[in-house]
Amino acid sequence: MKVQVTPSVFEVPLGMANAFLINHDELTLIDTGSEGSTHQLIQAIEQIGRVPGDIRHILVTHCHADHAGGLAAIKKVCDATTYMHATDAAMVQQGKALRPLTPAPGILNKGLFNTFVTKSPSEIEVASIDQEVAEGELLEIAGGLRAIHVPGHCAGQLAFFWPQEGGVLFAADTASNMGWLQPSIAYEDYQLGLRSLRKLTMYQFEVACFGHGKAIRKNAVNQFRLKWLR
Ligand SMILES: [Zn+2]
Ligand SMILES: [Zn+2]
Repeated sequence: MKVQVTPSVFEVPLGMANAFLINHDELTLIDTGSEGSTHQLIQAIEQIGRVPGDIRHILVTHCHADHAGGLAAIKKVCDATTYMHATDAAMVQQGKALRPLTPAPGILNKGLFNTFVTKSPSEIEVASIDQEVAEGELLEIAGGLRAIHVPGHCAGQLAFFWPQEGGVLFAADTASNMGWLQPSIAYEDYQLGLRSLRKLTMYQFEVACFGHGKAIRKNAVNQFRLKWLR
C-alpha cells in the first residue's frame, strides 16, 4: 500500500511506522520499516512502476527498529548507498536499535509508552552505512535534500527538507500526526526534542511527513510554528 503525498513523494505505511519514497529521476527511500515488512515495501515500489533495484539512496532517520529494522533486508535487493547520522550509524552497524526512553508528558503518552514503546526491539539485523551525514549537509539526492540533525527523541535522528513540490519536510519521529500534530510518545531527552522542533520551524515547508501518522499536506510549517514557537 502507498499514499501519494506530492507528485513525487509517496508514504508507505508499514505496520507501526511509515517509510517514504521520492520518485524523482532516481528512486530514494527514507526509512525501511521493521524487520519483516520488506515485502510490503517492495509491493509499494512496484505499485509506482519501479523495482527494488531502482533504489539509489536509502536514508535512515534514526536507529529505532521500526525505521532501521528493515535496512539489512532491503539492501539485499538493491545496490543503494545508505545514509545516517554518525551517532545512530554506530548503533545500526552493531545491530543496536534503542537507547533508554521515557514517555513524553501526559497520561496518554504514559499509557501508549507502556503499551508500545516498552515492547520495541532493542536489537536489529546488522547493516552497514555507507555515508555518515552531518547537521546542515546538502545531499545530492532528488536535486538537493537538506539534512537536519534533530536529537531529543533519538540522539542521532535526522530530518530531511526537500525544497521542491511546495517544500516537503520529512520530520521522522520529532513529532507525530496521530489524529493531530503532537510530540512523539517517547524521548531520550524531551527538552532537547522541543529545541529540535523549534529548529524545524526555520524551514519553509508546505508538507510534513511523519514516521507515525498521516502527512500534513498544507501549511504544515504554520502548524509547527503555532505549536512550538510560542
Ligand atoms: Zn523512533
Ligand atoms: Zn518510530
